Amino acid sequence: LIDLDNNATTRPLPEVVAAVRRVLEEHWANPSSVHRAGQAARREVELARRSVATLIGAGPKEIVFTSGATESIDLAIRGVLAARGDAPATVITTPIEHEAVREVCNATSEASGGRVRVRMLPVGREGVVDAAALGPMLDATSAIVSVQWANNETGAVQPIERIGAMCRERGVVLHTDATQWIGKMPCDVSALPIDLLSLSGHKFHGIKGSGALYVRRGVRLRPVLRGTQELDRRGGTENVPGIAAMGAAAEAAMAWLADAGHRERGADHRDAFESAVLEGVPGAVVNGPRERAMRLWNTTNIGFPRLEAEALLLLLSERGVCASAGAACSSGSLDPSPVLLAMGVPPEVAHGSLRFSLSRLTTRDEIDRAAAVVIECARKLAGSSTHATA
Ligand code: PLP
Repeated sequence: LIDLDNNATTRPLPEVVAAVRRVLEEHWANPSSVHRAGQAARREVELARRSVATLIGAGPKEIVFTSGATESIDLAIRGVLAARGDAPATVITTPIEHEAVREVCNATSEASGGRVRVRMLPVGREGVVDAAALGPMLDATSAIVSVQWANNETGAVQPIERIGAMCRERGVVLHTDATQWIGKMPCDVSALPIDLLSLSGHKFHGIKGSGALYVRRGVRLRPVLRGTQELDRRGGTENVPGIAAMGAAAEAAMAWLADAGHRERGADHRDAFESAVLEGVPGAVVNGPRERAMRLWNTTNIGFPRLEAEALLLLLSERGVCASAGAACSSGSLDPSPVLLAMGVPPEVAHGSLRFSLSRLTTRDEIDRAAAVVIECARKLAGSSTHATA
């Protein structure tokens, strides 16, 4: 298998497997138990907390372990809104967020009886948010701004520092969904105007079902899941194997991030893949920013006009290439990606758009072989789309 589906979803890191095995075999106890076995499990959790905190430049007490980015996002947005009490509140977000953000904003607003309003920042054709539009939108009702750091479908990097500076000036909480950024790009929240940051362990080689929310010291947040764990901020016995896996994955990510050349080489692989596909498939286009600095090194979104993304995905899968259409969770649906549509990508292109994402493990040989398979499959399917234009 050649894994171009969102950060090595099919291949585990040996050190992550070792961490999970260690916990399963030696630290089976509940980390909240006072006995010795419990305290050994607690030590695993706290060591991992330190690793995850160091990865993003936070203090260990600023890390709340969750079941993944979806839960972190839910806690961030609902937690801040609940802490504000009954006052009218506005959430400012973007139309290119992952559905984890979109859904919690919409659901919270709908359930609030008009108290909570959701407003959208505009986004340009390359999938980058217009930060300048934020200033006039901020007012006394602004409770939280939630903007992703990098887009999961296009890899477009968002002007998070500028947005954060504007929020800071107006005293508004900034949450960033950094699920695609963390582990792949350096992060130092101690030097950035970010108050809340969501991450997911499995996006940097941890195992599925583990994540964290960074909560800057002093940010007021009401817990969603009640309980004494995680300093009263997230109740429920911790997922010790998942947390230990995330700690090991964070250590591995830090070692990799220490050499900026790794990221450059990753971007070179991505560019080589993209160039080969664009050359081999007439009419194929890249959805997302042109400029290298505005792109996450591992992601490319390629539109094959007049092709059906799902048909192409299945054919690729038969030939051993794993990719996805839009957000992984929405694969299987025939609806084009709302993110691409919000960017103004024409529907006939959005219908035939696939996301290919590299991981730290992707080799040049895999890239070359994957590009050849994509070209072959796209050519085979050419003309089969039901969304054909003249
Ligand atoms: N946000 C972004 C940008 C993502 O890419 C994802 C997962 O694909 C999520 C949130 C949800 O993460 P999780 O599956 O850990 O809940």
